[in-house]
Amino acid sequence: MIPAGFDYHAPRSLADAVKLLGSLGPDARLLAGGHSLLPMMKLRFATPSALIDLGKIADLRGIAQAGNEIRIGAMTTEHALHGSKLVAEKLPLLHEGVSQIADPQVRYRGTIGGDISHGDPANDHPSLMLALDASFVLAGPKGERVVKADGFFLGVYSTQRADDEILTQIRIPIPAAGSGWSYSKLKRKTGDFATAAAAVLLQMKGGTVGAVSIALTNVGPTPIKARQAEQALVGKALNDASLNQAARLAMAACSPTNDPRGTPEYKTAMAGEMTRRALQAALSRAKA
Ligand code: FAD
Repeated sequence: MIPAGFDYHAPRSLADAVKLLGSLGPDARLLAGGHSLLPMMKLRFATPSALIDLGKIADLRGIAQAGNEIRIGAMTTEHALHGSKLVAEKLPLLHEGVSQIADPQVRYRGTIGGDISHGDPANDHPSLMLALDASFVLAGPKGERVVKADGFFLGVYSTQRADDEILTQIRIPIPAAGSGWSYSKLKRKTGDFATAAAAVLLQMKGGTVGAVSIALTNVGPTPIKARQAEQALVGKALNDASLNQAARLAMAACSPTNDPRGTPEYKTAMAGEMTRRALQAALSRAKA
């Protein structure tokens, strides 16, 4: 289908983009890679009166280390993230997650900021951001604020971002040296969204779990932090009994819907299995 008509703006600075968004009001939408927004416009699920293309604002791109965190511009593409040596070295969980998003064509255009802002629980970045304890920088008419990924996602297509705010940067603390990681994603075919996926960051301490972060993709209206599973693992060795318990507790946190990827029961079981596999893979990479 052909989208409804809209005005098009391509500001060259963040200040101009914020001003435009404020003056055009909530019927205007920001355009990043367009891989989520344009299909919705073609189906007329979204009929914005104007698009504000962020593509000409160079400041919104790039990956850099600042102290103990990695800062990623919201308009950085999945392709750039995957090719970044800094991300591969300092944030291997993100590097592994990005490699499983869609396919190379989508990754050339799709941006980390668009993936997060869209608020789609099927997207992979939201749970990766929860597992990595990321924060998001939002710029609006009243200035800038920084919000934690944990709590940012409110429901399907709903986040804490106000209509007049732009996500400008993602800040991710560099995990402790020796941390293990894994993003285990079950999908029906290459390029598909997750049937269920688990992001795990793990620190071992003398043969037992020192700290662990577990977040789940596409098994509820938002990405899910599997807190009870995390709490149950701390201080324990990772063996069949503790892995089974963690998988059970992760499953208890899920509330997926029925769709062509499977029934709620199947997706919940797969979330448990992805949790188990991600924990095992993270253990094999962790240094005690
Ligand atoms: P856009 O589509 O341009 O924007 C998405 C939404 O976010 C819009 O509402 C827009 O207004 C808003 N927005 C964009 N940037 C900002 C910003 N900086 N501040 C505030 N709001 C903003 N994603 C996955 O995670 N995993 C997958 O497996 C996956 N598979 C895919 C397969 C296909 C075939 C396709 C087409 C897409 C797939 N995607 C997948 C989604 C893809 O990664 C998208 O690119 C991503 O969800 C949105 O990023 P975008 O840059 O294209 O954003």
